[in-house]
Amino acid sequence: MSDNEIVSTEPATGAVVWRGACGSVDAEVSQARESWAGWAARPLAFRVETLRRFANVVRARADSFADLIARETGKPLWEAREEVEAVTGHVDVAISAFAERTGQRRLDSQMGMRLALRHKPHGVIAVLGPYNLPAQIPNGHIVPALLAGNAVVFKPSEKTPAVGAFLVDCYRAAGVPEGCVRLLIGDAETGRALAGHRLVDGLLFTGSARTGIALNRQFAEHPEKILALEMGGNNPILVWDTPDLYTAAVLVLQSAFTTAGQRFTAARRLIVDQRLAEPLLEEINRLIDRLILGEPHADPAPFLGPVIDNDAADTLTECFLDLSTRGGRPIRYLERPVEGRPFLTPALIDMTDSERSDAEYFGPILQVIRTGTFEEAVAEANNTRYGLSAALVSQDPRRYDAFWANVRAGMVNWNRPTIGASPKAPIGGVGWSGNHRPGGFYAADSCAYPVVSSEAEQARAFIGIGLRDS
Ligand code: NAD
Repeated sequence: MSDNEIVSTEPATGAVVWRGACGSVDAEVSQARESWAGWAARPLAFRVETLRRFANVVRARADSFADLIARETGKPLWEAREEVEAVTGHVDVAISAFAERTGQRRLDSQMGMRLALRHKPHGVIAVLGPYNLPAQIPNGHIVPALLAGNAVVFKPSEKTPAVGAFLVDCYRAAGVPEGCVRLLIGDAETGRALAGHRLVDGLLFTGSARTGIALNRQFAEHPEKILALEMGGNNPILVWDTPDLYTAAVLVLQSAFTTAGQRFTAARRLIVDQRLAEPLLEEINRLIDRLILGEPHADPAPFLGPVIDNDAADTLTECFLDLSTRGGRPIRYLERPVEGRPFLTPALIDMTDSERSDAEYFGPILQVIRTGTFEEAVAEANNTRYGLSAALVSQDPRRYDAFWANVRAGMVNWNRPTIGASPKAPIGGVGWSGNHRPGGFYAADSCAYPVVSSEAEQARAFIGIGLRDS
């Protein structure tokens, strides 16, 4: 890979998926700048129709899209298919969200006057995407941004440029003007330059807290620009008062190891009633023994694939070692069964009597913490700077009430996994998980600003008080 080229490879095999030159931030932003006003001036119905056509384009290309997502990320094909469905499904959600959150409304009307609320697009919106859901997450920003009348400059993750390019091609095939959806290929440095470009009116970012905090700093002198940050989590799943340990184990596994643990909502910490811990861990261990780790297209289908690349696998291996040196007791080691490739086996480590580390380990590592009381368990769940998702497995509704009331997170689930956020709802969290500009249904809020107008078709005015007789 030269300085000016991005090459992506299949995590499972190392084969090259895509290569291309880095783009020019200036050129892409200028194109978007020139184009957005024309797009914004089209009737909303035109933009709605274009985006519905986009959903149809993606449906027609669903097989090749899913295949590409699976190859470039390493996730199982069945999961890549779900991601493609999420892309098409998001269009109708975004149309409803636009109307509900940012549409037009008459607030008051009397005697020939009215007070009207409408929304306008910002202009040029930059979208920075992560690699783990490389189509679904950026699309969740791009569709609402386009619908509101913005032009978009999208920089996919340097680890998944092919999926980014495929997605942009689908918007264009549906009739979104080329100038209104620009693909910018590049790495973190390109992302930084895009974020700092003077002609960008706002940035919708999804990625790590480290990058989000750097962007927040970069935007500190630009209160006029919108910045929506959706970041990671150190998410807890609590197991308490449940007789069905098998189901609890399934929920824990789905939370921690789906997408090889590369979900922003993945459970990183299992907090469990110490009396249930041993039998629950036995169930979890039995299930992990049966989980299939394999390449995306393998038959039988795997539950999880490799992580994104060897660097990520190396980092996770170091993190696991670090947890052990802090006093963690490995229950299942993080192993790399395929030499030279980033396949990792699901790992469990008991951190009950050890120093905790409040980090997001973006891979298949689950820390176990046993507690004596439910109050201690909830305090442990809140023992993080993040606050994205949290789940409770319990048959007692009063436990759930107490959990819901006291746990700090933007997504609080009951007898459901921590993962699986619905775009029909806002997606976001508190603490280091975001800056209170959630995505999902509320993504519309970041794509347009409100304009309030007091209006009368005829000018009629008089001064009733404080005027001398003529
Ligand atoms: P990342 O922060 O490394 O990169 C995200 C994007 O930002 C990439 O396009 C990257 O090139 C760019 N970037 C990196 N450094 C930059 C900088 N200094 N300035 C500008 N741009 C920069 O994230 P990742 O590793 O690709 O993705 C995984 C992370 O994303 C995890 O932390 C995960 O929790 C998070 N995530 C969050 C959500 C959510 O909705 N909250 C969804 C998916 C993933």
